[in-house]
Amino acid sequence: MGARRPVLGVAAFVAIALGAWALVRGGATEAPTGAAAPSASAATPTPIAKLDFHVHIDAEIAPAARTFLRAHGIGRAVNLSGGWVGAGLEETLAAAGGDPVFANVDFRGIGAPGWSEREVLRLERAKAMGARGVKIPKSLGLRVHTPDGRRVAVDDPLLDALFDAMGRLGLPLAIHTGDPRAFFDPPTRDNERYEELGAHPAWSFSDRSVYPTWDALLGELERRVARSSRTTIVSVHFGNAPEEPARVARWLDRYPNLWVDTAARVPELGHRAQEARAAILAHPDRVLFGTDLQFGSDGSLVLGAGEGFGHRREGVERFFTSTWRFFETRDRGFAHPTPIQGAWTIDGIGLPRDVLERVYHANAERLLGLGPTPL
Ligand SMILES: [Zn+2]
Repeated sequence: MGARRPVLGVAAFVAIALGAWALVRGGATEAPTGAAAPSASAATPTPIAKLDFHVHIDAEIAPAARTFLRAHGIGRAVNLSGGWVGAGLEETLAAAGGDPVFANVDFRGIGAPGWSEREVLRLERAKAMGARGVKIPKSLGLRVHTPDGRRVAVDDPLLDALFDAMGRLGLPLAIHTGDPRAFFDPPTRDNERYEELGAHPAWSFSDRSVYPTWDALLGELERRVARSSRTTIVSVHFGNAPEEPARVARWLDRYPNLWVDTAARVPELGHRAQEARAAILAHPDRVLFGTDLQFGSDGSLVLGAGEGFGHRREGVERFFTSTWRFFETRDRGFAHPTPIQGAWTIDGIGLPRDVLERVYHANAERLLGLGPTPL
């Protein structure tokens, strides 16, 4: 059933990849990097290799996804949706074409006898099979419960053995704790993501009878990072506090095992570019470039916000040009990569060349023990 859909998806991917790339290149000759005035063509990508630390790729679509990413200048990408041993990891690794894959954790049964041992064993096998790290999604802290109905906090001792195993095995953890701050506030008109929450009511975590507060979740993560100090922890989405870059910088000051990625948070970071730039420049060795692109087996493509493969070529082009322009220029007042996420414009942070090299690829290569990323 539906056997033709992935095939059509592959064809559509390649077409949109090449078409969008042609548009990017077509507009790329007009203005040098660092042009001061906002203009439609200011983002000439600097020729630096790019390793995307944060993508989600279904195994069936992996070759087309790689074609798409390469066409947009991303020479290597970490697939954080590897699955676990016996549930997708084998297929994801086989389809990865040598790109890094992170394994996932099965929280079903947490709190029951034997859960830790089962998951630690899976991590050991995942490592032996070639997984490069582990990803834990936002369900931990929000929707993972013990069999008797208790919410499992990110710093719950039930998780200690698992975190210890990651450290012992040298598997860095990418963890998503919380979500945009606005998703925890009531979805009223004065909420800065009112339109997005209107389109996706299930994304709201404002019901205090069900969910902890944004600050409480970030506190749980901070205590986890402190306690699991021998485990390298990448708090994705700029620590899930891109609304407060100075707070993220303080965490990075305090915890040498903590890293962050930039995935799907250029809108927030570019909304307060000075503060974001200062935070990155204070910790240039522990910030990783990521996009959060999601490639579904049905040919769907999600550009950091849910729209599916209905994305037009202009949307794909804007996503990449706006992203490069944010990192590489000090342009002001331009459209951010995913306008559905908020009705504001952003400013670029114009990172120096040596910091761009680290954020775009060298930090991730060091973290994952990889050779040079192809340009
Ligand atoms: Zn993601």
